[in-house]
Amino acid sequence: YPNGLHARPATRWVETAKRFACDLRVYKALEFADAKALTGLLALGATRGDSLRVAARGPDARRAVDALLDVMQALSADEKADAERARRNALAARRSAPDWLPDGSPQAIYGIGASPGLAIGALVRHVSHQFEVHDSPADVIADGEALESAVLAISQELQTLETQTRTRLGASEAAIFASQRELIADADLLREALASILRGHGVAWAWQAALQARVEKLQAVADPLLAARALDLRDVGERVLARLLGIERQSLVLKQASILVADDLTPSDTLQLDMNFVVGLAISSGGPTSHTAILARTLGLPAVVAAGSALLAAPEGQLAVIDGGLGAVYLEVSQTDRDAVATVIARQLAERNALRESRYLPATTTDGHTVEVAANVANAKQARVAIEAGAEGVGLMRTEFLFLERNSAPDEEEQYRVYRDMTEAMGGRTLIIRALDIGGDKKVPYLNLAKEENPFLGVRGARLLLLRQDLLYTQLRALYRAAAHGPIRIMFPMVTHTSEIEALRSHCERARAQVNGPQLKIGIMVEVPAVAVMAEKFAPLVDFFSVGTNDLTQYTLAIDRQHPELAPQADSLHPAVLDLIARTVAAAKKHGTWVGVCGGLAGDPLGARILTGLGVDELSMSAQDVASVKATLRGDSYSAMQVLAQRALAAGSADEVRAL
Ligand code: PEP
Ligand code: MG
Repeated sequence: YPNGLHARPATRWVETAKRFACDLRVYKALEFADAKALTGLLALGATRGDSLRVAARGPDARRAVDALLDVMQALSADEKADAERARRNALAARRSAPDWLPDGSPQAIYGIGASPGLAIGALVRHVSHQFEVHDSPADVIADGEALESAVLAISQELQTLETQTRTRLGASEAAIFASQRELIADADLLREALASILRGHGVAWAWQAALQARVEKLQAVADPLLAARALDLRDVGERVLARLLGIERQSLVLKQASILVADDLTPSDTLQLDMNFVVGLAISSGGPTSHTAILARTLGLPAVVAAGSALLAAPEGQLAVIDGGLGAVYLEVSQTDRDAVATVIARQLAERNALRESRYLPATTTDGHTVEVAANVANAKQARVAIEAGAEGVGLMRTEFLFLERNSAPDEEEQYRVYRDMTEAMGGRTLIIRALDIGGDKKVPYLNLAKEENPFLGVRGARLLLLRQDLLYTQLRALYRAAAHGPIRIMFPMVTHTSEIEALRSHCERARAQVNGPQLKIGIMVEVPAVAVMAEKFAPLVDFFSVGTNDLTQYTLAIDRQHPELAPQADSLHPAVLDLIARTVAAAKKHGTWVGVCGGLAGDPLGARILTGLGVDELSMSAQDVASVKATLRGDSYSAMQVLAQRALAAGSADEVRAL
């Protein structure tokens, strides 16, 4: 896991461990944690590259260890994908110029930009409740019961918060509260508190002491991401404490546009803010990976974290400006600067509204050339979201997600139902389903594939499907059956040789005949440089191409797309990569073959213009990029994009291309 063992995957480990009766432990060297207790697991501070051992004792020990190992491995693909997305966003943020800089010289406090955007508002201090706890022992049984009922009540509150957050913001934000629930369901924490009650302490005192010890243990973990979970534990622990003390947690009453200043802000505090008035968050401690930062990004609330104690000294009520992209808070801003910020904010708001309103308009350039804009999705729900966001079709459905995080491969019936739901969600729009792309970084333990020295250069995608025809036929039959419900195109990943297409085509025909399905268009991804170089030979053999710029870039530049240091250099705007795409498009045009792009470059505004200028027919990207890419293409002429593309091809580096 590139980000170490943080709360989300650890919560999944705990959920798995709890299905078994045996004792289950995770060791890091000589330290160990109960696999059923989230705080303990987090306190191990396991980071990228650490070795862990799993041990179990009890009746179902073997099965428990196997299940835990499966989950540990299955989650790694998600963890890598998350880290890659975060890295790309950070890179994009660093590359873009600030939307506004003060003209005068206000006092500036710099922290880390945690959620982009500009806002102007009065500084309002958010002070977390200071608990005054006296040690007043009572009846041991009554105290034990009071603790149990407080923990249960808060657990239920968190459950409600989780459900509400899922509807309001989405599943990954809701998961924050699922892991908070695990944090207080921690048996060790309860045991410590109960032991201290038995030693003669009062329940509130005992709970606070046990909580404090745990929080300090988490804070001491060297990895900042893991240490940030201490705040989550304090958040839920103090909810329990407030309940034990009979204190109602007050929410802040605001009357004007406010920038909230806090030493730290818990996730549940963040969600309870009055969004009619809060326009920004300025936090003196914390980090960009905190759950509060994640929530701020989803809420579209500009936020700066790690701004230091100077922030807390700023006078309350003063009008300030926050730039959540740059990570700056400006105090004592002149009227001229305030007016200028207000103009920028109004313009950005108008642009966002215009984008939203125009999202269903086609991407037709000012001189009348139209490009299809589609989305990359993993399931029917995402497809519906993408269509709502303006996507005209699905250019890539990644089917490997169906195979991850489970103990056996989905059978034909299950796959059929998933693909059928997809076609129904599409309502007749283009749907390109990619055959299983396992191998490389996407590992599936139950397939028992041989360990490879260089998995990205190994048995991946189509290479695996040709070796494991059980997988190939199950998927193809399901696809041909689902095609009775709506149009589907089949796409094969990681093709290298023309002979592979010939073989895959005949397997398709055989599977089609077995289920008496309709004829479908069959295409390939262009991700191996050899295919782009020899596109002339491939074009007549396929119905369409879709360029996977992520892999094409890694193979062209010989840079692992997930390499912690080198990955930023794996820039798809590199002229060598663009040259290969240009060759692919030229060959496709010559043979009348449709060509799309479904790698990350398609969703980049500059990338989209260059690709359009190169003559691609379709661009497929994450749903959130669809509206802005469409607007970008509508704002320029095809002839200008063609000139831009030619200049990009002639450039000497990715940086030179960006400078265009
Ligand atoms: C690509 O390689 O560009 C692509 C779209 O496929 P994936 O990212 O799933 O490897
Ligand atoms: Mg790929």
